[in-house]
Amino acid sequence: KLIAKLKDPSLVTDKAVIGGEWLAASDSGKTFDVTNPSTGEHVATLPDMGRAEASRAVDAAYKAQKAWAKKTGKERAAVLRKLFDLMVANADDLATILTMEMGKPWAEARGEILYGASYVEWFGEEAKRVYGDTIPGHQGDKRIIVIKQPVGVVASITPWNFPNAMLARKMAPAVAVGCAMVSKPAAETPLSALSLAILAERAGVPAGIFNVVTGTDSSSIGKEFTENDKVRKLTFTGSTNVGRILMRQASDQIMKLGLELGGNAPFIVFDDADLDAAVEGAIVSKYRNNGQTCVCANRLYVQSGVYDAFAEKLAAKVAQIKVGDGFEEGVNAGPLITSKAMEKVEDHIADALSKGAAVKLGGKPDQRGGLFFQPTVLTGVTTEMKIAREETFGPVAPLFKFETEDDVIEMANNTEFGLASYFYSKDVSKIFRVAEALEYGMVGINTGLISTEVAPFGGIKQSGQGREGSKYGIDDYTEIKYLCLSI
Ligand code: ADP
Repeated sequence: KLIAKLKDPSLVTDKAVIGGEWLAASDSGKTFDVTNPSTGEHVATLPDMGRAEASRAVDAAYKAQKAWAKKTGKERAAVLRKLFDLMVANADDLATILTMEMGKPWAEARGEILYGASYVEWFGEEAKRVYGDTIPGHQGDKRIIVIKQPVGVVASITPWNFPNAMLARKMAPAVAVGCAMVSKPAAETPLSALSLAILAERAGVPAGIFNVVTGTDSSSIGKEFTENDKVRKLTFTGSTNVGRILMRQASDQIMKLGLELGGNAPFIVFDDADLDAAVEGAIVSKYRNNGQTCVCANRLYVQSGVYDAFAEKLAAKVAQIKVGDGFEEGVNAGPLITSKAMEKVEDHIADALSKGAAVKLGGKPDQRGGLFFQPTVLTGVTTEMKIAREETFGPVAPLFKFETEDDVIEMANNTEFGLASYFYSKDVSKIFRVAEALEYGMVGINTGLISTEVAPFGGIKQSGQGREGSKYGIDDYTEIKYLCLSI
């Protein structure tokens, strides 16, 4: 069914790739199924690999890396440029594969492919500019030079919510600077990772530089990644809990880490905000990917003077969101990823209602059944409710009322997370005060959309460490070495 929808059916595979070899079977012979969350239909069957295959992939990466690092930045840039071109040329097919395994609306999936490709383009360009430094010597006969070198073998573990982009923005800087990567995509969405590997091969990424290990036993694969001393860096996007486990495991080797973890984004609307713009921003920030992104607005704080008006306007817009299969025309909210995700959304709503919140819109599973949920707006939400502390990861906008700037900053910062935050105001002084006071890695000011390859994406506190994208993002894949020369 999937293949029939593609212009180039060879972009789908049922094989994993290690050292340039496409493998139809795991050592154990076990397989796992990928299903379409919109319909529950079977999409593909893949080898269920474990620790042994992960270890072989690390060996393959280790073997390939040194020769790749010896190429010039310009040579690596040319390969990434080709990969970017191939991603753009095949964006329709890549989007179809993505929607089929993950459920997001096809147009949104296509947007993700172009977003993922933008990192490939960006880091390809940066490959030529991994500059070092010279430092005036500390003694008359000393010359000091700083060079940046690839960290070596990088292991990556990525989630299902952006099956292409989360991997592309790790793979691109790694490949750009001369690292080799072993990647384990989420078991829900491995096909997008594999199609990226197919295109990487076509673009001229050498065998062993981009390996994809597919499997359901993520804990064993994660152990191999963190305990194998050929791996020099682990880059992970996923939940804070799993990030913590991996960080602990990686500590034995003092492994370099990149962690993009959970968020609990505040979205603040001040009395002086442009309300229509704030509603637009809330829609894109809250309901994009059906609320399943780590930068989705999770707590909407609205100042008392505009609370009712904002709630009305938001509910009117949210009512227009069309829920359905990502391949249906005009659909802008797909299913949730699993029944566990449904349960969490229902639990957060039930908890809020039991503590005094009210449903302004939605609040229930969608009449279509399955994993579809009604886009929801809750009013009268307070800090005692679960939804204030935990990431809901679903289409629920909880509206909190606040009175003063100090109050809202305190509430916004009162979380262990520190990824994205947003606020709306037209007062320039307030804009600087609030932006500087928010304890977050990213602040959207009068905008609900902050992700771009040109800016450093990442969090503070328990939302992670390291940055992806921008000139800062490439540094995470290099080590600094300093040469002290006595003349
Ligand atoms: P999500 O809520 O997005 O599924 P997870 O953190 O559970 O977040 O999953 C993100 C990625 O981490 C997935 O690829 C998953 O398979 C992987 N993962 C989950 N648990 C572990 C673990 N113990 N060790 C290594 N990887 C894991």
